[in-house]
Amino acid sequence: MSKGLLFVVSGPSGAGKGTICKKLLEKTDIELSVSMTTRSPRPGEKEGKNYFFVPKEKFLEVLHDNGFLEYAKVYGNYYGTPKDIVLKKLDDGKDVVLEIDIQGALQIRDSYPKGIFIFILPPSMSELRKRITGRGSETEDDINLRLGETLKEVSYIDKYDYCVINGEIDEAVNRVAAIIKAEHSRVSEDIYKLIAKYKEEM
Ligand code: 5GP
Repeated sequence: MSKGLLFVVSGPSGAGKGTICKKLLEKTDIELSVSMTTRSPRPGEKEGKNYFFVPKEKFLEVLHDNGFLEYAKVYGNYYGTPKDIVLKKLDDGKDVVLEIDIQGALQIRDSYPKGIFIFILPPSMSELRKRITGRGSETEDDINLRLGETLKEVSYIDKYDYCVINGEIDEAVNRVAAIIKAEHSRVSEDIYKLIAKYKEEM
């Protein structure tokens, strides 16, 4: 069986990565990797669904045991992608999407170069501020910190394979789904095997 594909989705806080990934799960067979984090749950977030929420000591223990495919410290909290879970899904032929920050995406480019990297952009900075403010979970200082980071983050766009502007959510989700389909249509080892079979059938 062929391996699944690993998609990495990043972009500025508030660009809509989370919503896009959630909607992708409804539209495609892709599976979302659940990260481990030391940040506290926001209202409505569930253990094992949004994140595995752990104390810093536990996170550092997993890190020490080489248990992360990548990890990063984002806005003062640690976040990491559990390695064994993701590699097992890929081995089982399932596509996996990681919704992670840029530091993490750069690590995946080194450790898993076959990954496919998608950057989500907001249509404008004013729209981004509106979206982050609308979440109501961040303080004014947090919001300014996150907006300031955005300009730094977009300078890494050349490390990504695709870019999707999230103006209208369904359109953005359709575009990401189209990228997934296109990546499955690449000329690959599987295609060479199929062509070899054609010859046997002659
Ligand atoms: P939030 O606290 O808003 O859920 O996430 C903050 C940032 O951390 C977002 O940019 C999110 O994509 C990123 N993030 C979430 N999980 C991971 C992870 O496992 N690794 C890395 N590098 N970043 C993550």
